[in-house]
Amino acid sequence: MRFWIGIDDTDSNKGMCTTYLSVILMEELEKAGMKIEGFPRLIRLNPTIPYKTRGNGAVSFLVEGDLEEAYEITKHCMEKYSMLDDEKTNPGAVFVRVDSEAMNILPNFAIKTVREVVSIDQALFIIGKYMIPHIKMKLGRGLIGALAAVGLELYDFTLELLAYREPKKFGTPREYDRESFFRADKETYPLTWDTVDWHNDVVVAIPSSPDPVLYGIRGDDLRAIEKASSIVITEKVDRRQFFITNQGTDMHIIDENETNEVENYHSYKLRGVVIEKPYDIEGGHVFFYINTKFGSIKCAAFEPTKQFRDVIRKLEIGDILEVYGSVKKNTVNLEKINIVKLAEVYKMENPVCPICGKKMESAGRRQGYRCKKCKTKAEDRIKVKIERDLEEGFYEVPPCARRHLSKPLVRMNVSRKHIFR
Ligand code: ATP
Repeated sequence: MRFWIGIDDTDSNKGMCTTYLSVILMEELEKAGMKIEGFPRLIRLNPTIPYKTRGNGAVSFLVEGDLEEAYEITKHCMEKYSMLDDEKTNPGAVFVRVDSEAMNILPNFAIKTVREVVSIDQALFIIGKYMIPHIKMKLGRGLIGALAAVGLELYDFTLELLAYREPKKFGTPREYDRESFFRADKETYPLTWDTVDWHNDVVVAIPSSPDPVLYGIRGDDLRAIEKASSIVITEKVDRRQFFITNQGTDMHIIDENETNEVENYHSYKLRGVVIEKPYDIEGGHVFFYINTKFGSIKCAAFEPTKQFRDVIRKLEIGDILEVYGSVKKNTVNLEKINIVKLAEVYKMENPVCPICGKKMESAGRRQGYRCKKCKTKAEDRIKVKIERDLEEGFYEVPPCARRHLSKPLVRMNVSRKHIFR
């Protein structure tokens, strides 16, 4: 029998990772004589969900074997490895036969889970209607992600190779040669991306959390990822696994033409005109307002977006933009922008003397301007166009600030890209 296993919400901030538990589970299933078909899928869901531990990821994989036996093995693994003590950990797993009618409706549920907020009841309804074998621990919120991981149609996808640490090393500082990650990037970019952030001098591939992941190499090409992985020098890799994923695809982004409103906990691409100049607040966060077809909306480039803020600070009233980002607290957290058209910006200056070419001086209150030397006069100040220190086109946050789901410009088939590396 062929069936999908979907699994989610097994980890907490204190450790573990649903991808790691899945790798162990796949090993156990194979030991029991079952076959895992193809790569497992690491599916990133709505990045604004408050329940998430880190990146709101869920995993699914296709199995050929005995479903009942797989159920027991999965249950055992989840009981052994899930971080059940953590209040926020509410594991769920589903077992969906490839010939189940549920497979027809799950793609719709899945894209909703990537873009909207869904309830446990919605997941339980599907499970009940299609009689899907499942494992629900505590609140079972993980059932949402588990179903979505099975159902999501990967109309665009990327790959990630995850390398895991030896269990005895969990929670200790990761040992690796920084320079080797920069070298790996140099030799395999743009077929791999977000391994390092050159400008901010960060090795992005190495997580900072205490989970089992040693590093992750992302990209579009399996061989390039393998090459990068062969270049990096690290402590011993205990296990490694390729995942096919919706990372770097912008699947979370709702186009403004697909919606009638802008809501918190959703991510959008919106077109608008800058109506208030960007301003900084304490902490280095930059805000501005745009007018969209939904009205005026606040946009933010927060401190972690680093040099992206320098682009934002140069925006002027009248600039036409497309903004991409998640809405929280009625504010778009910018992931990237497309400057469609820069506004012409002017400043008022004293007129120039037509004879000597020097700036005229004020001739006194309401008395216009004059050049004392040449005895020329002018009534008003003149409008002078300001050269904009900014180009039209796409700008994105740097790799160190990238959201898992955000499509890096290097993957986008658009012109006028300004890539931060
Ligand atoms: P990690 O990245 O380390 O695997 P995580 O960030 O994926 O952790 P989880 O522990 O999986 O976080 O918690 C996210 C929870 O939110 C899961 O229970 C998942 O089912 C649920 N969830 C995911 N997307 C949605 C959504 N759109 N609406 C409601 N709940 C969701």
